[in-house]
Amino acid sequence: MKIVSTVEELRHTLPTDQTIGFVPTMGYLHEGHMSLVENARRENDLVVMSIFVNPTQFGPNEDLDRYPRDFERDEKLAREAGVDLLFYPTTETMYPLDMARVTVRKGADVLCGASRLGHFDGVLTIVSKLFNLVQPTRAYFGLKDAQQVALIEGYVRDYFVPVEIRRCPIIREETGLAKSSRNVYLSDTEKEDASQIFKALTTARETLEAGHDLEEVKQRLTERLHEIPNSQIDYVELVDYPTLADASSDSKEILMAVAVQFERARLIDNVIWKKG
Ligand code: AMP
Repeated sequence: MKIVSTVEELRHTLPTDQTIGFVPTMGYLHEGHMSLVENARRENDLVVMSIFVNPTQFGPNEDLDRYPRDFERDEKLAREAGVDLLFYPTTETMYPLDMARVTVRKGADVLCGASRLGHFDGVLTIVSKLFNLVQPTRAYFGLKDAQQVALIEGYVRDYFVPVEIRRCPIIREETGLAKSSRNVYLSDTEKEDASQIFKALTTARETLEAGHDLEEVKQRLTERLHEIPNSQIDYVELVDYPTLADASSDSKEILMAVAVQFERARLIDNVIWKKG
């Protein structure tokens, strides 16, 4: 595995005659990231991973400074997973002038976008920069961040970016807790409590499947999440997927997404219900 940090090195190293599967991450790797690498390896000649904690997607009161980082460990895991090229740039490299950024027009006023103002502008800005640098054939994103996937797909369509976006399933602990770099902020008790989130979402999907109306499903899901100790609900929403518009009885896919704040970590999770 080759590690590069500058634009020049990256451009020099990238082949022009092979398919490239790209896995962008913020590091502190876990099995969720590894599953993206596995998919990328299966479908491409070469796998490129980036590790960059992107400052523009963090709000002023968010956890940018204390976001977990361990490059040595990440390097080892990436190598073992079969990453061919690891791009590990500095903020100065990724934002040489910071004169231009991408803005989201639709779909950023719900779910995480409503509570994290400007977050998705930051996400699309960095994804756009990374796509221009790596020029991947396919790029792999986890449905753990379902809103992010929908907005990246929208960006790729609107800007005619020549890349195929691959959606990958959520990887979970045995308890159901979705793997996340931020889970290190949870105590053992909180981890156990947090596993209720997926159970609540699964029940909600069953309730929807059984024909209950959207309002009722949302209400029951909210009640269930309220019962989780030492936590606060940030949002519970049911939206049409991937348009992120209000869900309706005509929706073919409904994203049931939640964010729950624990003492030191805000966790997100979701399930997607598909008609038929
Ligand atoms: P992050 O490092 O948190 O920015 O995540 C990098 C990529 O890994 C994103 O596409 C995430 O959606 C994906 N990812 C994070 N956690 C999981 C998970 N538990 N299962 C699947 N994909 C994940």
